[in-house]
Amino acid sequence: MKTSQLLLATTRETPADAEVISHQLMIRAGMIRRLAGGLYTWLPLGVRVLRNVEQIIRDEMNQAGAQEVLMPVVQPAELWQESGRWQQYGPELLRINDRHQRDFCLGPTHEEVITDLVRKEVRSYKQLPANYYQIQTKFRDEIRPRFGVMRSREFIMKDAYSFHLNRECLEQTYQIMYAAYHRIFERIGLDFRAVQADTGSIGGDGSHEFHVLADSGEDAIAFSTLSDFAANVELAEAVAPSKPRPSPSQPLTEVATPNIHSIEEVCQFLAVSANQTLKTLLVLGANAENPVVALVLRGDHEVNDIKAEKHPLVASPLTFATAEQITQVCGCDAGSIGPVGLSIPLIVDRSAAHCADFVCGANKTGYHLTGVNWDRDVAAGLVADIRNVVEGDPSPDGQGVIQIKRGIEVGHIFQLGDKYSKALNANVLNENSRAQILEMGCYGIGVTRVVAAAIEQNHDDKGIIWPDAIAPFQVCIVPMQMHKSPRVAKAVEQLYSDLQQQGISVLLDDRNERPGVMFNDMELIGIPHRIVIGERGLDQQLIEYKHRRDAEPQNIAEKDFMTFLM
Ligand code: ATP
Ligand code: MG
Ligand code: MG
Ligand code: MG
Repeated sequence: MKTSQLLLATTRETPADAEVISHQLMIRAGMIRRLAGGLYTWLPLGVRVLRNVEQIIRDEMNQAGAQEVLMPVVQPAELWQESGRWQQYGPELLRINDRHQRDFCLGPTHEEVITDLVRKEVRSYKQLPANYYQIQTKFRDEIRPRFGVMRSREFIMKDAYSFHLNRECLEQTYQIMYAAYHRIFERIGLDFRAVQADTGSIGGDGSHEFHVLADSGEDAIAFSTLSDFAANVELAEAVAPSKPRPSPSQPLTEVATPNIHSIEEVCQFLAVSANQTLKTLLVLGANAENPVVALVLRGDHEVNDIKAEKHPLVASPLTFATAEQITQVCGCDAGSIGPVGLSIPLIVDRSAAHCADFVCGANKTGYHLTGVNWDRDVAAGLVADIRNVVEGDPSPDGQGVIQIKRGIEVGHIFQLGDKYSKALNANVLNENSRAQILEMGCYGIGVTRVVAAAIEQNHDDKGIIWPDAIAPFQVCIVPMQMHKSPRVAKAVEQLYSDLQQQGISVLLDDRNERPGVMFNDMELIGIPHRIVIGERGLDQQLIEYKHRRDAEPQNIAEKDFMTFLM
């Protein structure tokens, strides 16, 4: 492709809401544009990367014996009522009505739809095991859409669902998927870890998350310094031996929860000034019985900004939130609410080594604690704060100590068992011609999130550095004075078609721009291999080559160039 034909929408401007580097670079490189909160248009350059990621996933899924299907985005409420999730799912499920006032939702996931298909189409055990996947748009009305496509409301997921006659067969397919996921993320070129994840209410021991390691990651994952133990912090907490926590360095004071109606009153209560910069999370506590006030701050916002946040829980005057809502805000589950209250640090300033005098979540109905002190270790990860697992704790398997890193959840696989098949009565006839409920597994990859995660791991101050496997173009040609020199123009066109014939995707920058402008754009959009063609090189029969990671270009003899590049 030639840049003259491409919507190359590079820009210097970084939107104010772009907190993480991948979000900034995806905007600056002209990969995505924001339509509304959590909704993005993918531009041609972005789509090329997305398709490359999808192709690797599709290829590995097909090789692992899964069959591609495509299910609707819009799903009827009846199926969700059958599984019970119409009630359980909460506000992340976007519910809509059609013109006949019938209830539908935009699919956040597809267990119900696929189980419905299978109960109708699969009759006999001879058709099993079966694994169906799709690469398709999901909608989740995320409470805090942010970081661009990393946590958007509409996003693309690869979701697969497997069906089995028994648990052993499910475990086999699970292992096949586990291995396929490793191949997928390796091929994409990511530094990732598979970690054990909590199976929550479903139970069983089969769930793993795949995390791309990055400081900007929203999840905390715990590793052993000695063994293979790796788990998300929720699970590490669940299996960790209980231990005494250091007591706060100051005596705790209980204060009655005031009736708070304004930001000014919040500030007064917290003893902060309205212009002070706070970080991350502010929750005015809650307990299981009583609704209390909750606020959320994102990033480095001034207290004043709370008003502008338009968070569903933050209205003016402040609305009251239920403990349930707060657990959603904090991303913890109801299990972390103790019998007397929810203890969540109010303000976590990650840069401070020691954050003194927190006001903390209610410990007693209608009360808060003041004077709570948190060490940086505790504040290192929000989940860790809540879950109480910190670096240096003994690893649950007894080998080594816990080290906590941050990760971006790009994939999640799960042995579901019969949760959905039982609720929807999905069965087949077994060897004895008896109806038998199916065992089920599900396997997700956040396709759009993978693109952002890849950038988090591969960039420098000039822009993106794509891994070869997903680069929008593998090679770019930057001509010197192509519009003045017919000789350069001819050589460039020749090389362009030669490379294409070799099956290499090439971007020819045929704009009449200064070299500096072209170099900057090609570096920003992250093309891994750059070729410069100019009069001087042609005289000496040399081609200038530079890898995106190289500091300096090198000259390669024209005749050796193809071999060099391949
Ligand atoms: P998270 O913990 O980040 O909210 P999740 O556990 O809710 O993700 P799953 O239900 O496991 O997500 O969905 C499978 C995959 O879909 C996730 O591993 C993630 O990569 C991706 N995903 C989930 N929510 C989003 C989102 N809002 N935006 C982009 N990708 C997402
Ligand atoms: Mg989620
Ligand atoms: Mg998750
Ligand atoms: Mg998950």
